[in-house]
Amino acid sequence: MPLYADVIIDISTEKLDRPFSYRVPEELKESVHEGAEVKVPFGAGNRERKGYVVGFSEKPAVDESRIKDILSVDESSVSAEAKLLSLASWMHRRYGSTMINSLQTVLPVKKKIKEKSFKNYCRNKGEAEIRAEIASLNPVRFAGRIRMLNALLIADVIPGDIAVSKFSLSPSVAQTLEKQGFIKVETTRQYRNPVAADFSLSSLRSIDLTDEQKLVVKGVKEELGKTDRRPCLIQGVTGSGKTEVYMELIRDVVSKGKQAIVLIPEIALTFQTLMRFYAVFGDRVSVIHSKLSPGERYDQYERALNGNIDIMIGPRSALFTPFKNTGLIVIDEEHETSYKSEKMPKYHAREVAEYIAAREGAGLVMGSATPSVESSYKARQGIYAYFKLENRFGNAVLPTVHIVDMRKELKSGNKSFLSRELSNAISERLIKGEQTMLFINRRGVAGFISCRSCGYVMKCPHCDVSMTEHADGRVVCHYCGHTIRKPEICPECGSRYISGFKAGTEAVEAGLKKMYPSARVIRMDADTTKEKDGHEKLLSLFADGKADIMVGTQMIVKGHDFPNVTLVGAIAADISLFSSDYHSPERTFDLLTQAAGRAGRGDRAGEVFIQTYDPEHYALKAAADQDYERFYKEEIIYRKLGDYPPLMHVLLLEFYSKDKQAGELRAGLMAERAKGREGIAVLGPAPAAISRIRDIYRTGLYFKSADIDKLTEIKDQAEALQAQFMEARSGPDVTLQFDFDPVENF
Ligand code: ADP
Ligand code: ZN
Ligand code: ZN
Repeated sequence: MPLYADVIIDISTEKLDRPFSYRVPEELKESVHEGAEVKVPFGAGNRERKGYVVGFSEKPAVDESRIKDILSVDESSVSAEAKLLSLASWMHRRYGSTMINSLQTVLPVKKKIKEKSFKNYCRNKGEAEIRAEIASLNPVRFAGRIRMLNALLIADVIPGDIAVSKFSLSPSVAQTLEKQGFIKVETTRQYRNPVAADFSLSSLRSIDLTDEQKLVVKGVKEELGKTDRRPCLIQGVTGSGKTEVYMELIRDVVSKGKQAIVLIPEIALTFQTLMRFYAVFGDRVSVIHSKLSPGERYDQYERALNGNIDIMIGPRSALFTPFKNTGLIVIDEEHETSYKSEKMPKYHAREVAEYIAAREGAGLVMGSATPSVESSYKARQGIYAYFKLENRFGNAVLPTVHIVDMRKELKSGNKSFLSRELSNAISERLIKGEQTMLFINRRGVAGFISCRSCGYVMKCPHCDVSMTEHADGRVVCHYCGHTIRKPEICPECGSRYISGFKAGTEAVEAGLKKMYPSARVIRMDADTTKEKDGHEKLLSLFADGKADIMVGTQMIVKGHDFPNVTLVGAIAADISLFSSDYHSPERTFDLLTQAAGRAGRGDRAGEVFIQTYDPEHYALKAAADQDYERFYKEEIIYRKLGDYPPLMHVLLLEFYSKDKQAGELRAGLMAERAKGREGIAVLGPAPAAISRIRDIYRTGLYFKSADIDKLTEIKDQAEALQAQFMEARSGPDVTLQFDFDPVENF
């Protein structure tokens, strides 16, 4: 029987959507595999072209007589593209998505390079003079000028767009600095480069590592030098010098002629972070992030392909940098959920990095102050090598953390969202001219049901997860579908104050304005940061002291240093704690630990208030004491009891349909097919936490197993079944997505 291969001729994405069908000649059957580089005749005149195999079929897609043969297979090919293609093919099989989706994830869009001209601000005076000027300026009135002068101390030339976007340089400040002779303005043409590769540095920075840091570097190098090297996990509090350790390891790899990929959560991808890498590695560094245009992205891909750079920094998609010889992959803040893709293929950067590192013989180094429970578990099992940095560099002071029992507040008649303790602390800061950050968890929107009088939280009798209030007055468990009517009074204490919790950032902002009419309040959430750079604009307003209080979702607590912030408040720490998701305690712990790290980063000690209806919860108490060990010990017990990762793997099948019943039916059928298999538990089907979005109904079906391969079999079976349905085209459309070890609530 002849075999047909789907071949993509050109991997510029415009043509990705259309693979062409070729016959696989008998003699090539053994050597043609998915991702293989092949030669095929193409177009008028049958010119020989390079192509990549992306799939197979037994039937030709077009009339048999029009199909041509594959000419040859390039088995020796280890080109960067071929490696990416085979990576796409692995992701396609591992995570269950179409090959096209996987290719689009892995390959960038090709676009023409346009020339651009730019203003450059060049340093025109000596370092001493600049320092003297900075010292003489009033830091509040001339914040803008000082920012720019400080930048000039690091780089001799600052491209105009960066001066404006990152240092908020205004025309008047530029004029003043030019008039005073601190800068010269030049207009030049610039090759598209997302950050400051054109920064000409006076000299590359080098530092002496502390003894503790040296020890970790030595240990990691030893591990990575072994043939059976393991991924390395570095646990170190914020400010312990993890980044310095990464840079030392990268220096070592680069000196051996290899390249490094550094993953950073998008939110931490600040100019400061990049500047640190530039200061050490100069313009051998590049960056990709979501705000780059497709053209800029493509340029970075080309620069890596051409060997113009050694280091790529970026969010999870930086994994797909086409380096010739990747020697090291670093994942900073490895516990961050943004490392999991929410689009098909729903891959986790950690897993893909492990795969790439193993294939390329590269090292994998992960770091965090609060490692994910998954990674900590692997470290304890010896699957990861484990290292620790216990001391902060310099002598940063830890803040004092208070847990506030909001049930007591209610009992004493305070129905506001602010406890008296926290509101007193805010008043104090306003008087002293210090700043406050208040945050609320975005994940709370779904609204668990709790009693504000006794703290009771309504849980599913079958699943031990909290139930969610729906607009129609029902309360539903999103794991098994158990449904009841919303109670009028608390079943525990009889109080009327039982309801879905719904304190949003807007409500808090409004409340603050009423309570402190003269305070300047900034709100930062998805709504106020929609525009490009919206995020950074608000942050720099706050940094410049143009506001007293910043209210926001969890995005405000990540990775920003404001020396004048001496108070941090978590308005409702429970909201994330009781969302119907087993990750909740971990998220809460991470968030509160990070938030606590935000208070008092200057020389003044900070204060943190955690408001809660459940002050005894282990995640809160451990966060208040900044005690990771204690948190982990409690958490792993809870995961064991609930059969959750890392002890078990979870596969979620997501069914989407305009027809409610069609989705449920298909899910039911697949549940039925999978039943009775050994070592696999089936949960559901049940409506998703958000059961309908834009008139599409969402149904979830969960499988649990300690063995990931068993879940992969389930996925394959479901895929095959789904293909049959697609072919038959009977009944309403139902689409299916797969999510292994999901990190977000579905
Ligand atoms: P982390 O990544 O763990 O949060 P960083 O690497 O950012 O820690 O270090 C915190 C601060 O301390 C940075 O400004 C860094 O430059 C500085 N620092 C850390 N270690 C050293 C060192 N050995 N010498 C000089 N500065 C250091
Ligand atoms: Zn109650
Ligand atoms: Zn349930």
